[in-house]
Amino acid sequence: MIPHTLPYCTLVDEDLLNEAVEDAKDWNLMHGNVMRTAEAPGSSEVVNYAPFLLYPSPFPRVGLQEAKRVQYAVNKLIHSVATDFTFLEEVLQSVIEVDVFTRKLLEICRTVHKEGTSQEIHFGMLRSDYMFDTNTKQIKQIEVNAIASSFAGLASKVSMFHRWFLERQGWTVEQTDKHLPENTAASGLAKGLIEAWKLYNKQDAVILFVVEPETRNIFDQRDIEYEVYKQQPQVRIIRCTMSKVSKASLDSNSKALLIDGKEVGVVYYRDGYAPDQYTSDEVWQTRLKVERSSAIKCPSIQYHLAGTKKVQQVLSKPGMLERFLDAEESALVRKTFVGLYSLDMGEEGDAAVAMAMENPGKYVLKPQREGGGNNTFGEAIVDVLGPISDTVERTAFILMEQIHPQSHSNYIIRAGNPPHVENVISELGVFGVVIGRGKELLLNEQHGHLLRTKMMGVDEGGVAMGYGAIDSPYLE
Ligand code: ADP
Ligand code: MG
Ligand code: MG
Repeated sequence: MIPHTLPYCTLVDEDLLNEAVEDAKDWNLMHGNVMRTAEAPGSSEVVNYAPFLLYPSPFPRVGLQEAKRVQYAVNKLIHSVATDFTFLEEVLQSVIEVDVFTRKLLEICRTVHKEGTSQEIHFGMLRSDYMFDTNTKQIKQIEVNAIASSFAGLASKVSMFHRWFLERQGWTVEQTDKHLPENTAASGLAKGLIEAWKLYNKQDAVILFVVEPETRNIFDQRDIEYEVYKQQPQVRIIRCTMSKVSKASLDSNSKALLIDGKEVGVVYYRDGYAPDQYTSDEVWQTRLKVERSSAIKCPSIQYHLAGTKKVQQVLSKPGMLERFLDAEESALVRKTFVGLYSLDMGEEGDAAVAMAMENPGKYVLKPQREGGGNNTFGEAIVDVLGPISDTVERTAFILMEQIHPQSHSNYIIRAGNPPHVENVISELGVFGVVIGRGKELLLNEQHGHLLRTKMMGVDEGGVAMGYGAIDSPYLE
C-alpha cells in the first residue's frame, strides 16, 4: 500500500501505478514535454521527458486568482521602474561597487542613455514567482523574472497532461474543468512576440531568438516559436547564438540590426542572463550593439535590471511602490512581499547582518543572479555572510525572509528515478506580457502559469538544475 493524502490519488496498487507511470511518460514524450539530456545538451538526437509530477499538486484557488490579478500591477511596476533611469542607477549604486556583472549591464544602459535610444518601445515577458505561505494564507513573492523567463511551453503541456491523466482514471470533464485551470502561457507569450513585431511595423523584419550554444530546454523555446507561426504564419523567426549576433551589423542611419541581410524587428533573449554566458568582451559588445539598435528587445537592459533582487528589496521599503503605482495597485503588490533587507553599508545593513547571523534559519541570502543555484539558505548564510559582514562585499546581496508553503505528497517522475510518494512543496509562477512606449503602457496582459514542485527540504527549485519538476495546480 502506498500512502496518499491527495483526495484524487487513486492508484494505490503498485502494478496500476507502474502502468500509469509508463503511460504518463509516453504522453509527455508524445506531446512535447521534453528536454535534451544532461549528457548531450547540444543535440536533439537523444531526448527525454522533462521531469514532471504524476498528479497535479493542490494549490489554493484564491492563490492563483490573486497571482493573476496582481500581475497587471507587477507588469506596470517593472515597466515604470525600467523607464526611470535615475531610480535604477540610484538603487543599483551600492551593488555595482562590488558586482561586476550588474555594473557592466548598467554601463551599457548609461551608454545608450547618453547616446539617445533608437527604440522607445520596451517589451517584457515576465514571470512572477510565489509560494503560498501557510502562516499568512497568502501568496508571497519569491522574485520577478524579467529575462529569459522559461517554462511557458512545457508548463502548458503538463497542464494538458494532468487533465488527460485524471480523465483516463475516470474523472469527468466537469471535474477536470472545475479543478484544473486552463493554461495559455505559451500562446500568450507568442501573442506578445507578435504584438511587438507588429509595433516594429515591417513585414520583412524577423524575430530573433538569442539562444545558448547548448541548451537542454530548447523545446520550451520551440513551443513558443511554433505558437507564433500558428498565430501569424508570415512571421519569420531565426535562432542565433551571441557569437552569431556578434557578426550582425547596425545600419548607420536607421540603427536597424541586420543579420545575414535580414532586419531584426524583435530580439527575444533566452541567453545573456548569467555572467558565464558572457564568455568574452565580444559578447558584452554584442549586447551593447543590440541595445543600440532599433530592434525591440525582450528585455531591454533596463527591464533586465528592473528584475534584479536589489530592485525588489528597495521596492519593499515604505512609500516606494507608491512612486510607480496607484494606491490600490501598491496595496496588491505589497501584500505579496515578505521581509526584504538591504545589506548596504550603514546602520540598516548592520542590523540586517546581525539578524541573519543570529537567526540564519529564517532567511535566504541572494546575490543579483538568475537561473538558480546562486542563493544561500539557512545556516549556510553564516559561512557566506560571516567573512564579509563588515565589508562592502556584502552589498552585492540582499537578505530575504524564508517562505514556508504547505507540503503535500506526490510522485516526481524523473528519468532513472522509480516512482515513490514524496513530500513536496510547490512554487507558482504567472506570466505577464508588457509593452510600453516611453512611459506609456501599450499592452498589459497576464497569460497562464507554471507550477514547479520539489522535494521538501531542497532549497533551490530550478527544473533545468535538477531540483524541481514541472507540475500544474489542482485548485482547491
Ligand atoms: P533565481 O532567479 O535564481 O531563480 P530565486 O530567487 O527564484 O532565484 O530563488 C531560487 C529558488 O530558491 C526559488 O525557486 C525557491 O525555490 C527558493 N527560494 C528563493 N527565495 C525564497 C524564499 N524567500 N523562501 C523560500 N524559498 C525561496
Ligand atoms: Mg527563480
Ligand atoms: Mg530568477
